[in-house]
Amino acid sequence: MEPLDLTLYDTLTREKRPFRPLEPGRVRMYHCGPTVYQRPHIGNYRAFLFADLLRRVFETRGYEVVQVMNLTDVGHLLADSEEGEDKLEAQARKERVDPWQLVERVSEQFFADLEALGVRPAHHYPRATEHIAEMLEMIRGLIASGHAYRVGENVYFSVESFPDYGKLSGNRVADLVAGARLEPNPEKRHPADFALWKSDPKHLMKWESEFGPHGFPGWHIECSAMATKYLGEHFDIHTGGEDNVFPHHECEIAQSESLFGAPWVDYWLHTQFLKVDGGKMSKSLGNVWTLDDLTERGFSALDYRFFVLRTHYRGPLNFTWEALAGAAEARRQLVDLRGRLAAAAEGAEPAASDAPEASVVREVREAFWGALADDLNASPAVAALFDLRHRFLEGGWEPPVAAAAWRFLEDEADAVFGFLPPAVSEGLSDEEVDRLVAEREEARRARDFARADAIRERLQEQGVVVEDTADGVHWHRVG
Ligand code: AMP
Ligand code: ZN
Repeated sequence: MEPLDLTLYDTLTREKRPFRPLEPGRVRMYHCGPTVYQRPHIGNYRAFLFADLLRRVFETRGYEVVQVMNLTDVGHLLADSEEGEDKLEAQARKERVDPWQLVERVSEQFFADLEALGVRPAHHYPRATEHIAEMLEMIRGLIASGHAYRVGENVYFSVESFPDYGKLSGNRVADLVAGARLEPNPEKRHPADFALWKSDPKHLMKWESEFGPHGFPGWHIECSAMATKYLGEHFDIHTGGEDNVFPHHECEIAQSESLFGAPWVDYWLHTQFLKVDGGKMSKSLGNVWTLDDLTERGFSALDYRFFVLRTHYRGPLNFTWEALAGAAEARRQLVDLRGRLAAAAEGAEPAASDAPEASVVREVREAFWGALADDLNASPAVAALFDLRHRFLEGGWEPPVAAAAWRFLEDEADAVFGFLPPAVSEGLSDEEVDRLVAEREEARRARDFARADAIRERLQEQGVVVEDTADGVHWHRVG
């Protein structure tokens, strides 16, 4: 498919700009990944699912994508601050486990979650602890060029050496100082300076260098070093959640552009935070949900995927169980649409895209891509799919038109959103399907509609569509 005329909202320039990759047909992007001290919660996955949506839009439109998402396994201090305990070590101490074991366990959970969510694996998942040499190299370069200075065993970045400091977040150094948002630290030349390398003999994860025996990196230098290693000194897109804008990304820009002397990233994209029950997720409220909590309540990871991705990534999104149930039902209707289109296609070849009778598919397709081209505005793109459903249910489609719509739904809409389960029907024999359909009937007679719906869903995920008609229940396979 031809490239898309995409515009993206760049946090740095504060405007939507046409997307032009640095190399034609190729997109290089970096996403701030999880701090692997506890299993990522559903809010984190809003940021990661957005990265996947971006990837899939590019790939569906024929770009080659190189995608990098880091794992922060050291150096991210509590409350994103300059002082205090390392998040990972604090958690390891609490659980009385070795921090390295904690990293292993959480990383495994993270990758399992990504798979369940249908996220295409990034090309690289670099870990901070495996890139200490690259970070030290950058730090040396920053010292040599006068952008960083050493105090004892610590190294700080000098914000006064980079006049553009604040250009991403809009924070001005003077305001930061006046607003007392900075913790006093007599070692720093300027209160807004931030640590590139710190020393702490009590730290469990530490490395020897010319700065001393007990050093570990600052969180910001990690992402600069890893992004540059895998994507080069100038790449297309960097993403993260809105909390990353300041200080994290502001500091990444300062370090990288000071060292390379040129713009580092062309588009900065930020996902708005997911809220839960209208507020912040918090341990004290007991609403820091993980994917397991969702599946325990009968939702699939794909339901959550759809819940997140059908809303524009820069718009508000509030998680409630009712809203998730609504998304699950909407997704079920689209899964159902696939089955119906497949059945209506009757094995016909899809109508040519410019055939007069295929105008309905053309219109939906245009609305779908037109919405996505506008800074990945997912809501109207998904609305176009429901429009397709309504128009199909009104009836009267010839098999080639149904086949064209079916192809669009699978090869474009689902390639982007990934909400359809794989259509494999080999899992269940005809006898098993008959048995499940009979069980569903029984559940319906007993007015246990939740169970009846669950069985229908299970059948659907195996590529079996159940239809309730005037003369009884019928089923057929799709795929
Ligand atoms: P962390 O594990 O804290 O380093 O966060 C990993 C990623 O998840 C970062 O890009 C955060 O900005 C993002 N994130 C954290 N909480 C949320 C949330 N509630 N909604 C969306 N993104 C989030
Ligand atoms: Zn980062």
